[in-house]
Amino acid sequence: MSHEVFDDQTSKAHLEESGGMSAPEQEPEQDAIEEDAYEAIESALASHHHAQILEHLHRRNAGYAAGDVHQGDLSRDTRLKTAKHGQNPYAVIVTCSDSRVPPEHIFHAGIGELFVIRTAGNVVGDFELGSIEYSVDHLKSNLIIVLGHTGCGAVEAALGGGAHGFTKTITDEIRACLPESCGAAEAERLNVLNSMARIRSSELLRELEDQDAIAIVGGIYDLASGEVTFLGE
Ligand SMILES: [Zn+2]
Repeated sequence: MSHEVFDDQTSKAHLEESGGMSAPEQEPEQDAIEEDAYEAIESALASHHHAQILEHLHRRNAGYAAGDVHQGDLSRDTRLKTAKHGQNPYAVIVTCSDSRVPPEHIFHAGIGELFVIRTAGNVVGDFELGSIEYSVDHLKSNLIIVLGHTGCGAVEAALGGGAHGFTKTITDEIRACLPESCGAAEAERLNVLNSMARIRSSELLRELEDQDAIAIVGGIYDLASGEVTFLGE
């Protein structure tokens, strides 16, 4: 199956990268980096259908939730390659600024894999939309995940009222998508759906989704278990 090829190529890339870290005194000069290898890594990550990428991230998250250490590629070699050749992140993650929700760790992702946008309550406005359009249009990301989480303070504040200053801008955005009476879990889910609707207000992104060129999906991250439950599961 093609997603297994995806995993094999990804693993191979990580093996090659980790091998490059074993002897720091012999690290290659930036110009000596083998460019063919970089091209293979880039296409293995970025050329897949969004459904395969979602499945890949789902498996990575299962590993994280099971307690596996971070397996993302943070090697010096990849840092140098991406600095020189640019980025090609295969997914956009729109999530909360909450310090307990670290996207690269949750999905065992390394340098150059995820284009991450974070706001309190993972709310989406014009700046966030511009960032998402940039990643999809210019960097060729083809999966957008809006990731809410359990115990979200922004959602709780929206339910409770009393915010002020610019914080109120965020809670007003969340409150407007909730019914009069609503529990925290349902509010977190509705808030993710609201941000997905905001993303679909972009004509560019909506048309690409209609063509199945990209997917826009939602999920809830459980602070305690580390598991991401994708909406619709
Ligand atoms: Zn939050």
